[in-house]
Amino acid sequence: MGELAILNDVSQLHEGRWWEAEGGNRVHCFLCPRHCHIHEGQSGFCFIRVNRGGKLYSLGYGSPAALQVDPIEKKPLNHFLPGTRVFSMGTAGCNMGCFFCQNWDISKSRHDQVHSQTVAPDQVPLLAKKHNCPSIAFTYNEPTIWGEYVVDICREAKLQGLKTVMVTNGYITREAFHDIYDHIDAANVDLKAFTENFYGKITLTHLQPVLDTLRWLKGETNVWFEITNLMIPTLNDDPSETRRLADWILENLGPDVPLHFTAFHPDFKLQDKPRTPAETLHRARTIALESGLHFVYEGNIYSDAANTNCPKCGDVLIRRSWHTVETNRMANGACPKCGYRVPGVWN
Ligand code: SF4
Repeated sequence: MGELAILNDVSQLHEGRWWEAEGGNRVHCFLCPRHCHIHEGQSGFCFIRVNRGGKLYSLGYGSPAALQVDPIEKKPLNHFLPGTRVFSMGTAGCNMGCFFCQNWDISKSRHDQVHSQTVAPDQVPLLAKKHNCPSIAFTYNEPTIWGEYVVDICREAKLQGLKTVMVTNGYITREAFHDIYDHIDAANVDLKAFTENFYGKITLTHLQPVLDTLRWLKGETNVWFEITNLMIPTLNDDPSETRRLADWILENLGPDVPLHFTAFHPDFKLQDKPRTPAETLHRARTIALESGLHFVYEGNIYSDAANTNCPKCGDVLIRRSWHTVETNRMANGACPKCGYRVPGVWN
């Protein structure tokens, strides 16, 4: 059966969660704060949730468009199983519309525009183990939009003793949050800027739901999470914005949530901005450390700020070069010199 025929044959499709029927054969998807109201035969903003016959189906289920083995530091996660490999997967589609997307070839594509494989949830942990990966990451596009597949993979991963990771924009509703994150061990959440203006104009979404997700992660789950702020020249690199972002993290999430400032390179619809200078990341890091955050990293450049230092005595605990761990001196999750316990998941 051809790809288009499969997409129209509901017996071949996986019915979604987090939706309700509406009049006129429409469906309301409440998985993410877009709250799409989808007409018969149409898809939501994310492309991969479709209305067929008045029911919502997930085209992403069992259908990854990217499968790869990455270092865990690439997610980036610096306090979660450092130096290990993570089996990474993504599908087509996304629920944000970021002009700077660096995975736009799949995230801005419809399901029938990418080359997908058929991989059942119970096959994923077997592939991860075959490639010596102690964890599985849902990444590349926004995994929230294929949450049904994520949850079923997580259940299988637990049976195999593997951990699971969300690399996410944090754009999820309250109704779906625990259904997904109660199965997750770690997350990296993009906090793309600290203004509604940026979120509205550059990502076509809103900031507040992302801040809500971060608060729920901290207050209501045991998920280990880190935050990434991709700095784009002139759009979100103002020092006063960085200070407000760091102060918000300190006040709402505490000093121990690692924060990664990463460098932008021109991509997709943002070709007119230059690469982020290293000095911009150094300045942002200084501001965040001055605010009181304990673990502030720089990424997508070569920098000593990829290392993990002990916040108490300053010793270098984990030395990294780009995404490679060169030395790891952590002793059972603590500094070997002064005994300070470093928050994270270390084994
Ligand atoms: S997950 Fe997709 S279909 Fe559902 S509300 Fe978000 S963008 Fe719309």
